[in-house]
Amino acid sequence: MADPLAYLDQQLRQLESQGLRTRLRVLDGEQLPVAVFDGRRVINLSSNNYLGLATHPALRAAAEKAVRTLGVGSGAVRTITGTMRSHVELETRIARFKQTEAAIVFQSGFTANAGVVAAVLGREDTIISDELNHASIIDGARLSRAAIKVFPHRDVAAADRLLAEVTSGHKLLITDGVFSMDGDIAPLPALCELAERHGAIMMVDDAHASGVLGRNGRGTVDHFGLHGRVHIQVGTLSKAIGALGGYIAGSQSLIEWLQLRGRPFLFSTSHPPAVTAACLAAFDVLENEPERIERLWSNTRRFKLGLQAAGFNIGASETPITPVMVGEGRRAMEFSRALFDAGVLATGIAFPTVPEGKARLRTIVTATHTDDDLDKALEIFQRVGKAQGIL
Ligand SMILES: *Cc1c(COP(=O)(O)O)cnc(C)c1O
Repeated sequence: MADPLAYLDQQLRQLESQGLRTRLRVLDGEQLPVAVFDGRRVINLSSNNYLGLATHPALRAAAEKAVRTLGVGSGAVRTITGTMRSHVELETRIARFKQTEAAIVFQSGFTANAGVVAAVLGREDTIISDELNHASIIDGARLSRAAIKVFPHRDVAAADRLLAEVTSGHKLLITDGVFSMDGDIAPLPALCELAERHGAIMMVDDAHASGVLGRNGRGTVDHFGLHGRVHIQVGTLSKAIGALGGYIAGSQSLIEWLQLRGRPFLFSTSHPPAVTAACLAAFDVLENEPERIERLWSNTRRFKLGLQAAGFNIGASETPITPVMVGEGRRAMEFSRALFDAGVLATGIAFPTVPEGKARLRTIVTATHTDDDLDKALEIFQRVGKAQGIL
């Protein structure tokens, strides 16, 4: 009998012929700045573990203690029996950190975005969204069935025109705080002003700003001094925080509504206690070890200057996410493979994660890279970049 999924093989072969059939790289051991992937020791420039918290002793100890005293699973969704004391403590902690009335934790940043947009909007409403917003925002927008209007990247005047076109229903203006593939920062003060003028709900996804921007890593709202003007702040616990999860911070009524109507919250099991315990410990580290964030930024400056001096096109990034622009998908993947063979892991990113013709390597330095790691990585980038015809 013919395999009804045979068309997938055909599509995979097509990706193969375009040089885009990439394989998963397997990490042996810990997520460290120099780590062993596919059996090769490489300088790791592709992790979101900005502050090195994924292996921080305080987070490990908190997680170990939670396993010992509370077990490994939460047993149910939050609304049945899966709300443990530490879930509530973590939410209280996040709200205090973000200076909002309340917060709610979801299983991931992805489910937080998808869940909140779908819960607060319906068919009669409109979403005004930056074209480079994260996929989870786009999926949430689709799930809500609201109309979706997309404005060109960071184009405040275009967002203004789109908002003016909406004559009925609720309006939600959404932006990433830091754009995940380009590393630039949203024009949040101007967007807040727009939202206020048009009576729109303002939402920011700070997945890449949490732990990176603002006082002690409080995110873009704090960075720009916009407390009280962003109605929905989404963050992740999976990147700088080092563990896993996502959250929404906002008003008491928003959070209560999400406890009642946030579908991932209602229909998917809550975090094991080890995850919530590790996250709680991470917020202590953010408050007590600000030197990690300082080191992240000094490493970022060192690495960007080096890439620029070598002659790479590094786009318009303002944060530790530094794209090295290549253009064609196949060339980006070949460059990435050659770098890996020479000792640097810098993942190639192509369509559909970024637009056609804008393929790149996406690099992220962390607080835990040494000067020596970065200088070596720069030397390898330059050598392989020349050999590959990128420079
Ligand atoms: C990574 C990311 C997410 C998803 O967060 P997870 O916790 O990994 O699910 C959401 N939004 C943006 C902008 C991201 O970069």
